[in-house]
Amino acid sequence: MATLVSTTDLVKEFPLHGSLFDVFSARRKRVHAVDRVSFSIAEGEVLGLAGESGSGKSTTGRLLLRLIEPTSGAVEYRGRNVTSFSARELERLREKVQIVFQDPNSSLSPRMSVGQAITHPLQIHGIGTTVERKERVLDLMEKVGLSPAEFLYRKYPHQLSGGQSQRVVLARALVTQPDFLVADEPIAMADVSVRALILQLMRQLKRDMGLTYLFITHDLATAKYLCDRIAVMYLGRIVELASRDTLFSRPHHPYTKALLAAVPVPDPKARRDKNLPKGEIPSAINPPSGCHFHPRCPYAVARCREARPPLREIAPGQFSACILD
Ligand code: SF4
Repeated sequence: MATLVSTTDLVKEFPLHGSLFDVFSARRKRVHAVDRVSFSIAEGEVLGLAGESGSGKSTTGRLLLRLIEPTSGAVEYRGRNVTSFSARELERLREKVQIVFQDPNSSLSPRMSVGQAITHPLQIHGIGTTVERKERVLDLMEKVGLSPAEFLYRKYPHQLSGGQSQRVVLARALVTQPDFLVADEPIAMADVSVRALILQLMRQLKRDMGLTYLFITHDLATAKYLCDRIAVMYLGRIVELASRDTLFSRPHHPYTKALLAAVPVPDPKARRDKNLPKGEIPSAINPPSGCHFHPRCPYAVARCREARPPLREIAPGQFSACILD
C-alpha cells in the first residue's frame, strides 16, 4: 500500500513564559513535547499512537494537520511536505485530513443544531448547493447511527446523549469526505456502553469510506481492537513500533511491557508482570538524559543514562528504542 501520511524527525517545543530576560535568553526553558518522531501510515491503515498522558501523542496529532507549527522536521501528505503549504493549500488539505477530539461537548457549539454543525464544514469549503448539502448530511447521519436523521437534524447538543454527541462529531469530521482522520482519544469521555459502539462504528466507516486513521489512545486494549500497527510514545519519543499482533505477543521495550501489564484481563487468576514502572512520567521541561525511561526502568544500566537509544529494527517490522537484545 502507498504511504498516505508520514513524519520525519518531527520536533515540537513549547517555550515557557517567564520574565522578560527569559524571553530573550538562549537558555529559555522549553517543553519538549515531540522529540524527533518519524513514522509512516499506509493508505487504509490504522496506526495507533499509545502512551500515558504527557507523552506527546495529541501534540503529534495536531502537528499532522498543522493546527500547530512544528519546531523542525517534516510532515508529508501524499508525498508533499505539509509544513511548507500555502494558506490555500492548507485549506484544501483540511478537506481531506480531519480530526476528532475526545470531548464532544467542548467541540460542539451549544448554539448550533446538529444539522448546522455537520453542514458547517461544507459551507467553509464551498461544497455543494444548499439542497445537496442537506442530502449529504442526512445520508451521513444515518450512516453514523444518528437515526432518524430528519428528527435529530434539528436537535441541539444539550438534547443529545453522550454517544449521539460523539457521532455528531464524527459525522462533522467525515462530511467533507476526507481520506485521513486523526482520532484523538475519541472514546475517552464516553460511557463504557457507548465505547464499544463507537469503536465498531469507526471500524465500519473505515471499511465503507476507505479511511486511514491515526488513532490516539492511552488504552492499549482499545488500540488492539482497531489498529493494524501501534507506536508507543514516552516523553515525546516513539519507543516501540510494531504490528498489533507482535506488540501484544512479543513486546520488546520495557515501557511497552509495563503498559501491557496494566491492560485489564478478564481472568482474575491470570499472572501479571509486576515490573510496572516506578514513579510518575518525568517533566518534559527537563527530561532525563539518554533513554528518557531510565529513572523508571527496572533494567536500566549506566549507559542508558548516556545516549539516546536509536529506534532500531529488532525483528522484521518491529522497532524498539532500547539497548536490550
Ligand atoms: Fe531501560 Fe536502558 Fe532499555 Fe531505556 S535503554 S528501556 S533504560 S534498558
